Amino acid sequence: KEISTKENNVAKIKVVVRKRPLNKKEISRKEDDIVTVHNSSYLTVHEPKLKVDLTAYVEKHEFWFDAVLDEHVSNDEVYRVTVEPIIPTIFERTKATCFAYGQTGSGKTFTMQPLPLRAAEDIVRYLHQPAYRNQKFKLWLSYFEIYGGKLFDLLCDRRKLCMREDGRQQVCIVGLQEFEVLDVQIVKEYIEKGNAARSTGSTGANEESSRSHAILQLAIKKHKEITDPRRQKDVNEAKTGKVVGKISFIDLAGSERGADTTDNDRQTRIEGAEINKSLLALKECIRALDNDQIHIPFRGSKLTEVLRDSFVGNSRTIMISCISPNAGSCEHTLNTLRYADRVK
Ligand code: ADP
Ligand code: MG
Repeated sequence: KEISTKENNVAKIKVVVRKRPLNKKEISRKEDDIVTVHNSSYLTVHEPKLKVDLTAYVEKHEFWFDAVLDEHVSNDEVYRVTVEPIIPTIFERTKATCFAYGQTGSGKTFTMQPLPLRAAEDIVRYLHQPAYRNQKFKLWLSYFEIYGGKLFDLLCDRRKLCMREDGRQQVCIVGLQEFEVLDVQIVKEYIEKGNAARSTGSTGANEESSRSHAILQLAIKKHKEITDPRRQKDVNEAKTGKVVGKISFIDLAGSERGADTTDNDRQTRIEGAEINKSLLALKECIRALDNDQIHIPFRGSKLTEVLRDSFVGNSRTIMISCISPNAGSCEHTLNTLRYADRVK
């Protein structure tokens, strides 16, 4: 597969909705599937309601997005619709970001998990093409989490990290370990290792990881040849490389967690407020980006600050909104679709 430059015309922002199938529990409870995907861009939600006299009726909500994927769509197809078209752009100085948004249990992790591996496979394939083979390009991977407004390295024993910004809008996460991807299969191991390190409390894995944002980054770097060993800059660049482009995969905290601001537990309240803040800030930044605004409100949250360099210049954003089909999730599903609608 040759790289085609026309792929650089891919939309700056793409909003995709993915519906998961009803699960066993929902089927055994005989819950209705209230989400209908009519075609590749249009869906309806049939909200069960009661009149004052308690007669039941259904309110229909309609939504249009860049792409709508029903419960039969495979992860491979998700990759083709979302990440695949933007891979060539990251060889052209683009910073790309792919988010999974939605309530806990809607399929964010299921959706995001395979994407970095597929992306790494494609990137490595491109690196072997004549156009890039002779350049000193290398692929690097890092994986960290934002939990309660703090950063933790998921590939380095949850080491706490801090963020620094230079004057040129470059964000640097001090101490974040990066690993060179020499063999694509190892990406899978990094993902598994990182996932195992995600916040897990006594209440169980999904419960706790739903309160954190997990960020996996693949960066293409150019490594300079050392022409003059006396020039420290050359030596540094040979060692650490200069980012050509990168793609970030972000498994966001459960969107319903942002509402945990009245919980009895103080810690839960603080985390809920932080999540709420970051999801709002994210929406504002993407909207600003879409309107080509000069001022992007990064400062709104840790999440958007960390992603700052991905929101400036040549950027691509893919929002995958995951929704549950069952009647019991109706309110969360509508919230997710309205959020996605505002980003669009
Ligand atoms: P989240 O990360 O949003 O909390 P998960 O990705 O953990 O949700 O998904 C919840 C459950 O639903 C998991 O058991 C997952 O395997 C299953 N699931 C999610 N999406 C799909 C899908 N499209 N097809 C089949 N199973 C799915
Ligand atoms: Mg998850």
